[in-house]
Amino acid sequence: MFAILRDWTTRANRLKAAAFNGPASGTVRGSWLSDLAALKKAVMLCWQCQPKWKPEKHGYARRMVGPGYREARGECDGCGAANELCAMYLPKERH
Ligand SMILES: [Zn+2]
Repeated sequence: MFAILRDWTTRANRLKAAAFNGPASGTVRGSWLSDLAALKKAVMLCWQCQPKWKPEKHGYARRMVGPGYREARGECDGCGAANELCAMYLPKERH
């Protein structure tokens, strides 16, 4: 685990993030998110990525992570940042 990496501007760290998150480096993050949406998987997005993805377009809606919790600390599906506060999105038809 590399829970706390503050400098995401270096190439080495970006490659690490790509390797850790699943998709090969060079994968367009937007298409990765579309894949998750096509599979109706939960999507977690950090505050930086939230404005870049439109959940309504994919039939998703933002959900509370738990009673009283709007966000969960985890790994962002948008940029791969670990240990970020992420909002959770779920497919609407699941609920
Ligand atoms: Zn992000």
